[in-house]
Amino acid sequence: MAITHTAISYYGLNYVEHAAADFREMLDHGCTTVVLAVTEFDFDFWRPNIPKIVDCAHELGLRVLIDPWGIGKYFGGEQVSKYLQNNIENRQVSALTGEKLPHACFNTNSFRDYFRNFCLTLARETAADGFFWDEPHYALPKSYASITGGAGDDWSCRCPVCMKRFSDYYGYDMPRVMTDDVIQFRWREALWILEDCSRHLKELNAGLEITCCVHATHNSYYVTEHRGYDNWDMVASSPYFDVFSTTIIAWDLPEAFFEQITRRTVEMAKKYGKQSERWLMGYYKQPQDLARIDQMVDLYERLGIDRLAAWTYRGGYGTVLAAPDALGLWDRIGDNYRRVLRKKGD
Ligand SMILES: [Zn+2]
Repeated sequence: MAITHTAISYYGLNYVEHAAADFREMLDHGCTTVVLAVTEFDFDFWRPNIPKIVDCAHELGLRVLIDPWGIGKYFGGEQVSKYLQNNIENRQVSALTGEKLPHACFNTNSFRDYFRNFCLTLARETAADGFFWDEPHYALPKSYASITGGAGDDWSCRCPVCMKRFSDYYGYDMPRVMTDDVIQFRWREALWILEDCSRHLKELNAGLEITCCVHATHNSYYVTEHRGYDNWDMVASSPYFDVFSTTIIAWDLPEAFFEQITRRTVEMAKKYGKQSERWLMGYYKQPQDLARIDQMVDLYERLGIDRLAAWTYRGGYGTVLAAPDALGLWDRIGDNYRRVLRKKGD
């Protein structure tokens, strides 16, 4: 099957006529889909223009997936969070120190309601084609660097809500160390908010497509990040998700890592009858030789990936996370998008 979906993320949306010019540039770069990164501030302040921007993308021929970008610092993303500004509770808590963290606890009813309302409102008010769950994660741990652990011994969340729910379920106090029960609890609770919201979205509009994009990590017998979505079987088997996606991989990692992640992404998606998606790093850093992008796209295609996506429009041009040659990187991704789409009819 040829790749027919080539997505680019887009943030900073404000004015419809400016978005229109950017959308035309995306079409010139072979994009079929825009991942619209809607921040909590956009939602709060620019709401009247969001449906118009979605309509504009449609009129020009782009599909639109909404990404509640960095929401509550629960999803990936650099944006600031109004939820955290307006709530001094409902935060994740470090298991080892008991400190509150600058991340919303997505197992609290408060954040679950906030997230559902954010997404359902956008689903009602816009004609978006779907939603994109962008690197959902617990704040901690970030990584286990060695097979014996160590670097990432602290974890979250051990807030009052999580602790109560744990003890109600297991019948004993939530431990401070990450036991098997804690791991299972974290997986189950982490999936709940996304499944609940996805179910509500599909009840509202059965045609809405849900992509769940998790961190591209080993999750092997020895090394895992324990960020809550590292049990790929649990995520990919969810009946509420249509696309199983794994995030960008830094260009300086070896090809074997790209290959391993991509193989597992395809296998997992196929196993549960989902579309598979792989991301390209299109901001911040670029490969020394841009031809590496062509090679990785070939690799993804050869291994059977259904969808390509890149972060972000214009290589992050003008931001602190711009690639050194942001526009050159964007052009090379565009060349690749046009190249794979040309094979559609083969
Ligand atoms: Zn919690």
